[in-house]
Amino acid sequence: MKVTIDKNSGYCFGVEYAIQMAEDEMEHSNTLYCLGDIVHNSMEVKRLHDKGLRIISREQLEELRDCKVLIRAHGEPPETYELALRNNIELIDASCPVVLKLQNRVKHAFDKIQPDKGQVVIYGQKGHAEVIGLTGQTNNEAIVVTTEEDLAQVDFSRPVSFFSQTTKSTKGFYKMKALIEEKIKEANPQAPADYLDANDSICRQVSNREPQLQKFSHEHDVILFVSGKKSSNGKALYGVCKIENPRSYFIENEQEIEPAWFEGATSVGICGATSTPMWLMEQVARHVENIDSVATF
Ligand code: SF4
Repeated sequence: MKVTIDKNSGYCFGVEYAIQMAEDEMEHSNTLYCLGDIVHNSMEVKRLHDKGLRIISREQLEELRDCKVLIRAHGEPPETYELALRNNIELIDASCPVVLKLQNRVKHAFDKIQPDKGQVVIYGQKGHAEVIGLTGQTNNEAIVVTTEEDLAQVDFSRPVSFFSQTTKSTKGFYKMKALIEEKIKEANPQAPADYLDANDSICRQVSNREPQLQKFSHEHDVILFVSGKKSSNGKALYGVCKIENPRSYFIENEQEIEPAWFEGATSVGICGATSTPMWLMEQVARHVENIDSVATF
């Protein structure tokens, strides 16, 4: 069985930068706090925990004083920066530049649309760290939509400025955009074309991987998609693999692999999300090679 790791999978530059910043900082201090999982991958979180990184919740942040806290790639709302200032917390800001730019665009759109009583709508996951940072730019007034049903919260007789969480699927975003267009036409047939200002703000580190993964999934008999279960882009990118190759399996680590998946297979492709470390995909590859050496398919 030929085992191949997808050369395009693994950390995006935003996650790579945040982890590098954490590791550099921990060289000088024994403990560094990080607000939320630095990456949605429990294996990597454990590796960094062993080096001194302590994950804290928002509630725990409120209790801290006079220390250093890392802001991960997902970014934070303005309140976090205000709290840090009050409690003398030094923030090591590893917010991804792509997310920071999107926060700025959302804030600008919110300010601009106010005189027309418009609404900012974000296609994303409610409660996701990046989405909390984005809605924070709008006094938490932005409407978050994940499914078609969520559109019931939007008043389509008023203008809409529409954005996407950076890690959502392109297909899902355009489907939602088409629905909004339809509903605006229904509610207000005379609405001018700019009533909907749609911004495809999906990160190219994610959307560019979709066609690459389609091709990769097609080239192998079995696909092992390695990702943390909490990873939003992990779910989106796994969906792409599964459509292309029904013998695609979502795993968090090599312990979840079942040898029966490889029956009759001659090639196995290993790929992952923007939060999947390369060392983990290599560990999975070695495990599959071991299964292959003792298999009696
Ligand atoms: S997926 Fe894109 S926006 Fe998100 S951390 Fe990576 S580079 Fe930044």
